[in-house]
Amino acid sequence: MLKEKEMIAIAQRIIRANKAPIKVKFLSYNKFKTEAKKSPMVKQVLREGNAFYDLNVPSLFSHKKDTIYFNKKMLTKLIHSESLLTQRRFIKAITYHELFHFMNKRRMKDSTVAAAMLSEDMVERQFKKSYPKLAALGKKIASKYGDN
Ligand SMILES: [Zn+2]
Repeated sequence: MLKEKEMIAIAQRIIRANKAPIKVKFLSYNKFKTEAKKSPMVKQVLREGNAFYDLNVPSLFSHKKDTIYFNKKMLTKLIHSESLLTQRRFIKAITYHELFHFMNKRRMKDSTVAAAMLSEDMVERQFKKSYPKLAALGKKIASKYGDN
């Protein structure tokens, strides 16, 4: 499994190359979960009875703090059995995904479930268009473990 330091370095390279004034860091599982619950979409699926661990969320973007958060436990679950090359590509994929959230910031006006879903759709479309192979990899790994 890739070291946290290397994952951060991969993300930072992408952030710098895109001149995005954002940070990236790891959060403990509990803090990550708390942060994730601020998302109306996550709130909604938890209300429907799903366990957070089953949602396979490896990363988050905080619009308030302009920070990408990674979580070791979720990343390990999703990619520990992949090759190091695939692990690196997955980190790139989730970084681009969160980066698109940052770039769409101004368009995200309210925090309803519908707005969040629309934002996810938009991010996925832009990501697929710019980086089709990475987007496909991200999708493949996420769907291996669930129905998302
Ligand atoms: Zn997203």
